[in-house]
Amino acid sequence: MIDPKPTASHFIDGAYVDDPAGAPIPVIYPATGKEIARVHAATPSLIDSALAAARRAQPAWAAMSGPERGRILRRAADLIRERNRELSELETMDTGKPIQETLVADATSGADALEYFGGLAASLTGEHIQLADGDFVYTRREALGVCVGIGAWNYPTQIACWKAAPALACGNTMVFKPSESTPLAALKVAEILKEAGLPDGVFNVVNGAGEVGAALVGDPRVDKVSLTGSVPTGKKVYAQAAAQMKHVTMELGGKSPMVVFEDADIDAAVSGAILGNFYSSGQVCSNGTRVFVQKDIQDAFLSRLAERLKNAVIGDPLDEQVSFGPMVSEGQMNIVLNYIAKGVEEGARIVAGGKRADREGFFVEPTVFADVTDDMVIAREEIFGPVMCVLAFDTEDEVMTRANATEYGLAAGVFTRDLTRAHRVVAGFEAGTCYINTYNDAPVEAPFGGVKASGVGRENSKEAINHYSEVKSVYVKIGEVEAPF
Ligand code: NDP
Repeated sequence: MIDPKPTASHFIDGAYVDDPAGAPIPVIYPATGKEIARVHAATPSLIDSALAAARRAQPAWAAMSGPERGRILRRAADLIRERNRELSELETMDTGKPIQETLVADATSGADALEYFGGLAASLTGEHIQLADGDFVYTRREALGVCVGIGAWNYPTQIACWKAAPALACGNTMVFKPSESTPLAALKVAEILKEAGLPDGVFNVVNGAGEVGAALVGDPRVDKVSLTGSVPTGKKVYAQAAAQMKHVTMELGGKSPMVVFEDADIDAAVSGAILGNFYSSGQVCSNGTRVFVQKDIQDAFLSRLAERLKNAVIGDPLDEQVSFGPMVSEGQMNIVLNYIAKGVEEGARIVAGGKRADREGFFVEPTVFADVTDDMVIAREEIFGPVMCVLAFDTEDEVMTRANATEYGLAAGVFTRDLTRAHRVVAGFEAGTCYINTYNDAPVEAPFGGVKASGVGRENSKEAINHYSEVKSVYVKIGEVEAPF
C-alpha cells in the first residue's frame, strides 16, 4: 500500500518545496476520521515563486514544437497508467472513494486527457483566409500565458489533468491549487509530468485554502483561471478575474434532471439513477439528482431501485469489494445529513437510507426520497451527497418545464425507447451535457460543461483548445496600400 505522506507540500519549478510557516492542513482518511498526512498552506513567498516560475518557463514551452510538447504529455499518460494501482490507492485515501472506482475512473481518466491533448498538440493550427486582390489573412493560434487551475475535492487527479493537459498542449504553463480537503494527488501528477520530461516551472502545485486560490486569481501575472467548484465560489472567482479581464473556465455545480418515461427500460433507468446519484457517494457535479419518473411506472421504478440498493457494499473504500464509501469530510457529511432532515421535515417520503451509517468515518447511507415536489429545498439546492429525489410527472411538456426550472444547467438525461422523443427532449434541455439512455459518462473526446449558473466554457474534447488559446489575425497586403492623402 502506498504511503500517503507527500515528500513536501508543494511542487514548484520542478521540485518539491515546503515552508512550515504555512498553516497546517491535516489530511483525514474519510473512512476512519484519522489523520494520515499533513501539508502546509502556501505562504505568500511560495505563491510568488510558483507564479514567477510559471511566467519564466512559458515562452520556451510555447516555442517548443507541438509534437515535442505532446510527446511529454503522452509519456506522462503512460507513467500514470503504469502506476494506476498506487495512484488509485492515494486517491482513495485522499477522497474516501472506493478503490473499485478509483482504479477505473480517476488516474485513468487523467491519463486519457494527457494522451488526448498530447495527441492534439501536434495538430494545432491557424487558418488561411483568401481576400480580394491577392490579399489574405492568416490566423495564429497562440497560448494565453500563465493559467491558474483550482480544483474541487471529488476528483483531485482527474481535475488536475483535465486542466493541465489542454493548457499545456496549447503552450501555457500552470499553477494548480487543489482543494484543501484533498491535497495529495495533484503533487503526484506534477512529479510524474517532471519524470516524463516536462521542463521545470511548466506545471506547479501550491496547496492551501480559498485565500491561496484568491491570491493566485488576483495576481496580474495570471492570464486565465479555470475553476472547478461550487456556484458561490465561481461567482467570486469570476468577478475577481473579470476585474483584470482574464479568461475563465467555470465548471460549477448542478441540480440536474433525469427524466424516465413510461416506455423506458426500467432496469437501465434504475442503473442510470444509481450511477447518477450514488457513484462517488453522490459527490459528482453532473449528478441527476432530480429523477422525474412518469406516474404509471413510479411504483415499479421505486421498488426495483430499493431492491438494487440492497446490493450496495458499504465499508472500507480500500477494500475492492466495497462499492459505496464515505463523504469526503465530516463537514460535508453534516451538510448532507441536514438536507436529509430538511427533506423529512418538508414531507418527502424516505424509500431507502436516510441516516448516517452505523460505523466510524463519514458515511451517509444511500438515500432515496419519493413524493418530492419542485418547491422543496432538497429539489432545488445542490446537496452533493448520496441523496436522490424522485418526482412524479404526467406529460412531456410538463416535465420539460419542470426540468428546466432551475438556475443550474450542467447536465440532463432522458430514458425512453422512443428515439424521436429522446432527441426532442435533449434539444429542449437547458443543460450543457446531455445523455440518452445512460448517465454520467464523461469520455475525454466529448465536451463537458454547463450553461446558466453551472458555468462558462467547456473542458475536454477539441472545444477545450478554444478555452486555452486565442487567435491572432494577421492581414497580409499584396497590392498597393491606398491612402486618402
Ligand atoms: P468550493 O467551491 O468550495 O471550492 C472549490 C475550490 O475553490 C477549492 O479549491 C477552494 O479552496 C477554492 N476556493 C474557495 N474560495 C475561493 C476564492 N475566493 N478564490 C479562489 N479559490 C477559492 O467547492 P468544493 O471543493 O466544495 O467542491 C464541490 C463543488 O464543486 C460542487 O458544487 C460541485 O458541483 C462542483 N464541481 C463541479 C464540477 C464540474 O466540472 N462542473 C466537477 C466537480 C465538482 P478550499 O476548498 O481548499 O478552501
